[in-house]
Amino acid sequence: ESKRFQKLALTDELTGLYNIRYFKMILKTECLLAKADSSKNFGIIMADIDHFKQFNDVYGHQLGDFVLQQIAKVILISVRASDVVARYGGEEIIILLRGAVPLEDGLNVAEKIRKNIESHPIRKEDNIYKVTASFGVSCFRPQDDLETVIKRADSALYKAKQQGRNCVCTIEILPESSLIRQESGCFQLFKHSFGFFFDSLDGFGWGRGSSGNSYRFNSFKPLFLKLIR
Ligand code: GH3
Ligand code: MG
Ligand code: MG
Repeated sequence: ESKRFQKLALTDELTGLYNIRYFKMILKTECLLAKADSSKNFGIIMADIDHFKQFNDVYGHQLGDFVLQQIAKVILISVRASDVVARYGGEEIIILLRGAVPLEDGLNVAEKIRKNIESHPIRKEDNIYKVTASFGVSCFRPQDDLETVIKRADSALYKAKQQGRNCVCTIEILPESSLIRQESGCFQLFKHSFGFFFDSLDGFGWGRGSSGNSYRFNSFKPLFLKLIR
């Protein structure tokens, strides 16, 4: 019985994910650990389902709830067991990527989730529904507290929505090593965590804005298999 109450206190009823109260408790500790030891960096991903109000309007709130549950499952199977996934509120989900996460890893995980959601048909009573989501990624900085690191993920999410949705954005400074070449803001190569290179010839590029660097991590095609240091 007490286990049942404990579960109620920590989790969100609809999705079974952690609730935001528990998430912030964990994140607070994670910030303290990362401040004390610079090798204990972490990443934050903020996800938001695209045009979900419209989905509810067309198919009804009940089906919307079902979709939200399915998306939560897709996210859970896309991350490691040590990562913490919580319902931030409404149709927004926040993820803590634990343990020495460089920005590129955070972007790669978000991109993997984005693809998994995009390619995951949601089946209900002989019908198939498809939704997409947008993502903002941030990385812990020594001067951060839990609110500031969340805020940067949220700003990046806002950017992803502005760039057309169904994509991953960051407002963190990208490490120069991941930028191999850039021409007129729309051609570049990034090092993938598996050692692949991807190009974003579809017109969205890395750029310098007043809020830092960002790029659209979408429709990347494998270009060649080569490691450049
Ligand atoms: P955007 O692509 O900009 O995110 O558009 P949106 O319509 O998803 O965004 P907005 O924030 O305007 O609306 C969020 C909608 O998500 C409002 C509400 O209909 C829906 N929503 C939020 N929480 C729930 C929920 O628990 N269940 C269901 N079915 N819908 C929810
Ligand atoms: Mg939304
Ligand atoms: Mg929203």
